[in-house]
Amino acid sequence: MDSNSRQLHNVNSPLQIFVKAKKNINDIFGDISDYVVETTNFIEGLAADSQADIVDKAETETFRSFVLKINNIREVLARDHMKVAFFGRTSNGKSSVINAMLRDRILPSGIGHTTNCFCQVEGVDGHDAYLMREGSEEKLNVTSVKQLANALCQEKLSESSLVRIFWPRERCSLLRDDVVFVDSPGVDVSQNLDDWIDNHCLNADVFVLVLNAESTMTLAEKSFFHEVSTKISKPNIFILNNRWDASASEPEFLESVKAQHQERCIDFLVKELKVSTVKEAEERVFFVSARETLNGRLQEQNGLPAHTGALAEGFQARYFEFQDFERKFEECISKSAVKTKFEQHSSRGKTISNDMRLMLDNIFERINDLRNKKLEQKKLLTDRISATETQLMVVTREMKMKIHNMVEEVEQKVSKALNE
Ligand code: GDP
Repeated sequence: MDSNSRQLHNVNSPLQIFVKAKKNINDIFGDISDYVVETTNFIEGLAADSQADIVDKAETETFRSFVLKINNIREVLARDHMKVAFFGRTSNGKSSVINAMLRDRILPSGIGHTTNCFCQVEGVDGHDAYLMREGSEEKLNVTSVKQLANALCQEKLSESSLVRIFWPRERCSLLRDDVVFVDSPGVDVSQNLDDWIDNHCLNADVFVLVLNAESTMTLAEKSFFHEVSTKISKPNIFILNNRWDASASEPEFLESVKAQHQERCIDFLVKELKVSTVKEAEERVFFVSARETLNGRLQEQNGLPAHTGALAEGFQARYFEFQDFERKFEECISKSAVKTKFEQHSSRGKTISNDMRLMLDNIFERINDLRNKKLEQKKLLTDRISATETQLMVVTREMKMKIHNMVEEVEQKVSKALNE
């Protein structure tokens, strides 16, 4: 796929539901943050004014805590992504499915490269890939899959520990759109399913069960998902019957084998796990060949037709089915992640803005009361002043009259005395 069509794939992808929602909610929280900081500064100013005595210390602290809370939400929001986790028995093709979706040989796959711990592939800015082990900040350079495979094999890691592989976003549209892939050790090798679920599954938006279409679903695979659905309500589960290319060698049984697998998978989702309706489950079960899809995509990247990567007859149908799975997966994961991740943030944001509004209303009321009191005081004072003024006027007028009379009297007395 050339860079233009890769871009096009990106723009039309249902993953954009999440990408756009993330941008919107990010912008909203940016505005809320500006507003909260501005209000807190104002409140701190009021608190500093010792004469006003409107807000107390505890209120200022509460406003400061709003700023911290909003910053925390923004940090979590920046890290929010869509997470898909792959499970199934060893060698069913989990790593191959992830590589096919990422259109590159990122995870080591094949005999001798059994994934013996959890591997998370996530996007990173820049041109270089690197990996990080759990509990370490050291960035180990990854130049090739072979080196990555050796690095993973040499590590003495506990099976529920996590190795994070950071792969340049520019090389893959799914990573660019914030999808994180988690590969697991085979469910057949673990006694620690509980740890697995607690550590790696609770925040997964979608689970993909990779089965080997050449055999039937095992008890280990079933028990794992029974365990998952006790801890997560209605997990989104897709089932890939992988290695479907093998069916081409027995075309006479193809349809009946497919129908049998289909029925068992649908029963598992609907009747056993009770996580979906029959109609929904029909959209969750696929028959694919991961190895072939990856081969085909790598051939296409080299300018050759996809079918040159075919392993057996019937490539085109399997290739389309893989694409169909990806489309439905993208729709499901982006809707689910928007709901589970952003709904939480928006309700926390609402609670914070509500609490803040109540406090501001309270302060406003107090200011209003204070203002009214002052106005009353002023009125009292003015009334008193005007009463004094009137009194003064009366007094002055009386005095004037008196003086006038006295002067007149004196004058009269003086003129009388003169005449005498
Ligand atoms: P994992 O242990 O589940 O991660 O399985 P891998 O992805 O490592 O695959 C195990 C082996 O099966 C590798 O040699 C793959 O090339 C091969 N394989 C994976 N998917 C397919 C497929 O669809 N068809 C065939 N024929 N082989 C596959």
